[in-house]
Order: sequence, then structure tokens, then C-alpha cells
Amino acid sequence: MSFEALGLHVNLIRALTDSGYTKPTSVQEQAIPAAIEGRDLMVSSQTGSGKTAAFMLPALHKLISAEVVSYDNSKTPNQERQSARSRGDRPRFVAAKPKMLVLTPTRELALQVTTATDKYSAYSRRIKAVSILGGMPYPKQMQLLSRNPEILVATPGRLIDHMESGKIDFSELQMLVLDEADRMLDMGFIDDIEKIVAATPPTRQTMLFSATLDGVVGNMAKRITTEPLIVQI
Ligand code: AMP
Repeated sequence: MSFEALGLHVNLIRALTDSGYTKPTSVQEQAIPAAIEGRDLMVSSQTGSGKTAAFMLPALHKLISAEVVSYDNSKTPNQERQSARSRGDRPRFVAAKPKMLVLTPTRELALQVTTATDKYSAYSRRIKAVSILGGMPYPKQMQLLSRNPEILVATPGRLIDHMESGKIDFSELQMLVLDEADRMLDMGFIDDIEKIVAATPPTRQTMLFSATLDGVVGNMAKRITTEPLIVQI
């Protein structure tokens, strides 16, 4: 099986070739075609299995394929800001409207996911991913959000702060990923996760990755996904 056979956009294939990826891992082979079709996923897989690319490649594929339509439809927040300035209005903050959100348990994992995303989207430069992390200075985060990135990669606590102060609007969110969901629950993020999920559109695609799909994490996974494809690696 090749990455081309999974149906990925040519810009992604080029980036994968540059990265030295020759063929998909098992989790990628199973998850990517279903995710491109828009199916929800519940995946039990470990770090090192290639799980980041298993959710990020289909997500990027969908964002790249939809790009022309979404950019033609309406003004981006940057365009809104420019027209506000040209009307002489006082600059105001326009909430970021991400298309994809990845929740991770730790800052380190969030940064790894963002770095991998930048690598995979090297030939798709209009797609931007930013990390929203506890411990990062607020002015820096506001600057990142003001670019209206398509993809947010966040730890739950800091994301809630920005949601509650109106800096992020999830009304256009299409894809939600919970990465290492079992670790997020172990760290006590259950209430934050519930709050974040409740703020996203019910029409979203949900992809959950976890070392185990038993017990509490399995129950949460069933609650937040719809007819998911279950992948056990
Ligand atoms: P992950 O499980 O997402 O943390 O990925 C583990 C490592 O495998 C990372 O360094 C990835 O860059 C690498 N990787 C992921 N998919 C592939 C692939 N299909 N071929 C070669 N390396 C890969």
C-alpha cells in the first residue's frame, strides 16, 4: 500500500517524500481512507505507531481540498480587520474560527503535533497550525490567534481560558481530535474536555486516539463519536 493509494492530495505526497516516509504504517493505512470519507474514529495505538499522521494527513487533505471554496466565500478575519481600519474604525479583536482542533495532554505533545503539521503542510502554505499552551505568554497567544489559523493544537486548560474570553469561536469547526485521550483523563481534564466538546458543532468529525479504549475513556469515546470506525493496533 502507498500513500497515493490512500487518496491523499499531491501536496501531501510531496511533503511525505521529502520527509522520507515511503509507506503508511498500519494505523495510517486503516485510519486515513475512513477519515477522508468523514467517518469518526476510535483508535487504540501507542506513541511511535504513526498516529499523528493518521489524523493529520486526512485532515490536511480535507482542508486543502476545500480551500478554494472556503476562501472565496467570505472575508477572512484579516480582511475584516483591514476593512475596519480603512473605515477608520478602532481595531477590534475578531475571534479565531479554526476548522480543526487537536487536544493533547501536554505542551510537549502539542508542540510535536504542530511541528509534524508544519512538515506535512510544507507545500500547502495557506494552511496554518498554532499551539495554544499553558505557560505561554498571553500577548504571544493573541498574536497567534489573530492570524486565524485553520488548525489549533491545544492543551485543555489554556484553551478554556481563551474560549471563555471570546477569543475562539468554534462555530466553523469541522474536525476534533483527542490525542492520548486516556492520559488527558488521567490528568483530570475530563470536565474541560466535556466543556470544549459541548462548544463544538454536533456535525463535527471526531477522531479519538488512546492507548486503551476500555473503561472511562471508552465510555467518553462512545459518547462523543457517531458510528466510529474502531481501529485496534
Ligand atoms: P507518532 O506515533 O505519530 O508519534 O510517530 C512516530 C514517528 O514515526 C515520528 O517521528 C514520525 O515522523 C514517524 N512516522 C510516522 N509515520 C511514518 C511513516 N509512514 N514512515 C516513516 N516514518 C513515519
